[in-house]
Formats: sequence, C-alpha cells, structure tokens
Amino acid sequence: MKKIAVLGSTGSIGTQTLEIVRYNKDIEVTALAAGRSVNRLEEQIREFKPKIACLWEKEKAKELKAAVADLDVKVVSGMEGLIEAATEESAEIVVTAVVGMIGIRPTIAAMEAGKDIALANKETLVTAGHIIMPLAKEKGVSILPVDSEHSAIFQSLQGAAGNKIHKILLTASGGPFRGYTREQMASVRLEDALKHPNWSMGHKITIDSSTMVNKGLEVMEAHWLFDVEMDQVQVVVQPASIIHSMVEYEDGAVIAQLGTPDMKLPIQYALYYPQRRYLPGGRLDFTKLKEITFDVPDMENFRGLKLAYEAGRRGGSLPTVFNAANEMAVGLFLDRKIPYLTITDMIEGAMEHHKVVDAPNVEQILESEREAYDFIKSTWKY
Ligand code: MG
Repeated sequence: MKKIAVLGSTGSIGTQTLEIVRYNKDIEVTALAAGRSVNRLEEQIREFKPKIACLWEKEKAKELKAAVADLDVKVVSGMEGLIEAATEESAEIVVTAVVGMIGIRPTIAAMEAGKDIALANKETLVTAGHIIMPLAKEKGVSILPVDSEHSAIFQSLQGAAGNKIHKILLTASGGPFRGYTREQMASVRLEDALKHPNWSMGHKITIDSSTMVNKGLEVMEAHWLFDVEMDQVQVVVQPASIIHSMVEYEDGAVIAQLGTPDMKLPIQYALYYPQRRYLPGGRLDFTKLKEITFDVPDMENFRGLKLAYEAGRRGGSLPTVFNAANEMAVGLFLDRKIPYLTITDMIEGAMEHHKVVDAPNVEQILESEREAYDFIKSTWKY
C-alpha cells in the first residue's frame, strides 16, 4: 500500500485525489487537512480512516473532534496542525492542494521529513522556489507536478535522456474572456468569471484563469520546476485544452502530451509515477477531432500575464508580492467588493510599491505578503 497525506482534501484537487484512492484501492490515506468544512471532512475521515485530520479553524476543529469521537483519529488545527498532518510519519507522498501561500511551511516541513511532494499548490514554488528546489535536492525527495500543464511537461520529458530543454510551450485556454477588450472586461461580473470553458476547478483558480494570472503563476512554476529561464517559457493559447503543454528540444523536435481536460490524469500520474494506471472517463477521439487551433496570448488586455513575466524575471520577493496582491484582490472580487479590472490594478500597484528583497527567507516572504496586503488596504477603498 502506498501511503499519502492530502492537504486541502475538501477542495477540487483534494476530492479528485480521493476519487483516485477510492477507485484504485491500493493507497492508504494517513492524513487529511481542510479549511473549515466540518461535515465534508468528517465524511472523508469515516471513509478513508486517516490517523490525523486537521481543520484550519480552531473552533471548527473542536466541532469535528466531537463529531468523530467514536473513531481512532487525532484532530488538530491551525498551522501547527497542518504541519503535523504534512509530516505524518508513515506518509510517503504529500499532496499539497491547499490554496495560497499557506502551503509554504507545511511543504517545507514535509520535505524535511523526507516525503515526496505531489505539488498542486503552485504558490509555494512561485514564492519560495529558490528554497524548495535546492531543498528537494538536498533531501533527495521528488516534486511531482499535479498542475495539468506541468504534468504534461514532466510527461514530455520522460524520454529526454539527459537532453536539454530548448523551450517550454505552456498551453493556455485563454479563459472565458479570450478576445475581450479592456472595455468589455470592465463590466465582467463574478458569475461570468466563474464559468471556465473547459476545466472544472475551485473558485480562486477559476478567477485566476480568467485573468490569465494563473498562467503567469504557471510560467514561474515551470521556471523553478524545470530549471529554465522565464523567457524560455512561451505561453501558447490553445482554446480547447487538448494539448496540455509541450517541450521543444535543441533540434526543434516538439514533444507534447494530449488528452481530455481531466485533472484526475495529472493527479494519478503524480501518485503512481512512473507507472500509468487505467483511468475511467473520456478519451480523445481523433475521428471526431477536426482541428486544434492556436493563438498568441494578448498581454496588453490580460495585464496579469505581462506582470507575472516582470515579477518572475526580477525574482526575489517580487513574485510573492504579485501572488499576494492577486490573492487578496481575487478574495475581494469573490466577495463582490471590487470590479474585475481592479484585480490587475492592485497587483501592478503593489509591485510598483514594493522594494525587492533578493533571495528572501520564509520570514521575509511572509513579510512581503503582509506588506502587499497592507498596501492594498491603505490604497484602495472597497
Ligand atoms: Mg494549470
């Protein structure tokens, strides 16, 4: 039995991870962690019987503890609890599917405890890639990408035989507002932004996909995961999300991974790597697929992507500010407190205001995050 811990177990990636566990029957879940959903976590505890369960909110954790008093499970809470779940002794792989920078500390703790990481929490690499990647090497642990594009790149690298990557072609659907002008974007409502054309995902990432900030975060993620420069990562718009990303080698050969848009494939590949398992669900049908179309990303109207390249090229604490400002702005947009275009205004403003710290440690990363929040709070009225 393979043993895993799932951080963010009630979210989109978390529940799909548990679907894979349920289907395959040869994975044991030793720890589960979620944010605030007592009922859903209780259901998961009853089904998967972890040794440790963490609910981020203390009060909710008390409720959960009472609800599962009949079971042999340790209930913990807060950052301390999340780290305890991430380092649960018997787990070999930790699936990091929490949303946001909250993932940094538990990911580092899990790696220090010698665990492989199935990484869905891209913010950890965006903000602390310079800490995470050397640590993985030092501890001899693997970072297995769960993000569909990065999994596609990882799969396209399996036959690399030591050959260098010339370029990464990171595909993007372009989201629901592909082709929109700034004027059209100005009147985008929350309901419109939550409709992704292909992928079914959590709210935060669905908004990030619509602004293309998600793609920007993914460029930075690819830069760290595959040890390439920011400008070796080219975003290619491929609206139907059939090609999940590609690698171009020195000789011009391009290797791609294709499939239907289903997050379970990258999750399962990370859990069983290098083995491939049967996965129920849709398959590409090349008798029906007439064409695959491409476009260049519109960085003038989708300023989030342009700002991400700027943040990633400069590096240091600037990607943290990019990410933190976006996290806060998206939260405000989800609460209907700011208009859609203010999301990128806030990112740009916070980046301009920030004095970059080179090679920040975890404390400095979290300090840069707080600073970005404070700047937004004191600059915008909402
Ligand atoms: Mg992705």
